[in-house]
Amino acid sequence: MHHIGAAQLADSQTGGERSVAQATRLLPIGLTQARGRRARPPRHLADLDPAGRRAAVAELGQPGYRADQLSRHYFGRLTDDPADMTDLPSGLRTELAGALLPPLLTAQRELECDGGTTRKTLWRAFDGAFVESVLMRYPDRVTMCVSSQSGCGMACPFCATGQAGLTRNLSAAEIVTQVFAGARAMATGAVPGGPGRVSNVVFMGMGEPLANYASVLAAVRRITEPAPAGLGISQRSVTVSTVGLVPAIRKLADEELSVRLAVSLHAPDDELRDDLVPVNRRWKVAEVLDAAFGYAAATGRRVSIEYAMIRDINDQAWRAELLAGLLAGRLAHVNLIPLNPTPGSKWTASDPAVADEFFDRLASRGVPVTVRDTRGTQIDGACGQLAAASSPS
Ligand code: SAH
Repeated sequence: MHHIGAAQLADSQTGGERSVAQATRLLPIGLTQARGRRARPPRHLADLDPAGRRAAVAELGQPGYRADQLSRHYFGRLTDDPADMTDLPSGLRTELAGALLPPLLTAQRELECDGGTTRKTLWRAFDGAFVESVLMRYPDRVTMCVSSQSGCGMACPFCATGQAGLTRNLSAAEIVTQVFAGARAMATGAVPGGPGRVSNVVFMGMGEPLANYASVLAAVRRITEPAPAGLGISQRSVTVSTVGLVPAIRKLADEELSVRLAVSLHAPDDELRDDLVPVNRRWKVAEVLDAAFGYAAATGRRVSIEYAMIRDINDQAWRAELLAGLLAGRLAHVNLIPLNPTPGSKWTASDPAVADEFFDRLASRGVPVTVRDTRGTQIDGACGQLAAASSPS
């Protein structure tokens, strides 16, 4: 019997695209279902492209240039406070901001480590759904790790987010808001190291971005279009990470974007990957890699193969060799992630010597490989540790 995928249920709530809903319709039994129909998040400027914004202000009886003024404040000057919008008549400020800049996410709690340069924010949405985002400031870049869903329906057993299941998809503006908050914190000098900009965005927070395709795509456009249309972050500095929803990867390859694709592979063989990444029961390693290489060919961008090193589970020498065989000569590189601890999981990170050997085997076969510098483990803000629903608030 065919199961209706969580992604489809949730996608239909936020107006997601049917084709991707169809693509994810056959998610294997056991993946979490969304629970019931919910109200949509309020409409926000960041949900709309410039033409949509002009139409929205026209509905309020205002000329189109008001939309551009509002956009310059929000995307250009990073303010959503009507008091700052002194080029708008005062009554109109509140009306326009009330209609198009509704508060979407409220910060519930902020945790920091690394001297304040790693900061995790727990956000509460209008309906009580929780998400988290993480800002990481490095000497040469500032990366915002954003959530695309509240919870996740992919049920990967080593990931904390997967354990509680999917609550719902985020709207485009709910995603953009997370980047906006980071951009504002950087601009105002709230992050130690002086004022700066968010240079990179990774869709590696809660959720499976390609199961919320339409909103994620709209968010990518808002994040990357130059101000006042968007936040002006380079497409090349945006990474979309996926468990491997093959039809959605193929669709993304046709969008004429130059964002980086990351594929959470974690195992080179179907037998193990069926357990580690349950959606592999639907789309096998060979199909996922074929789609990933197709993405690389279409965009000219190397795909990133994510591989969490789990002790005695996926770190054997023969698996390194198998992985090298799949990737050698391809436009791909491997990003090894030391497994981060998650509650209730029996797994731990690979022994460093074993991880080194795995690395060397890939490198010696000519496969580009890096080890991810994971940040935020102290604040449960590292890969796979975001689990806002179970956090005290
Ligand atoms: N659903 C998407 C986006 C989440 S990204 C995806 O899976 O790609 C989060 C990244 O961290 C993914 O590569 C994920 O597999 C990895 N990850 C999850 N749990 C982890 C853990 N406990 N330790 C290290 N990495 C983990």
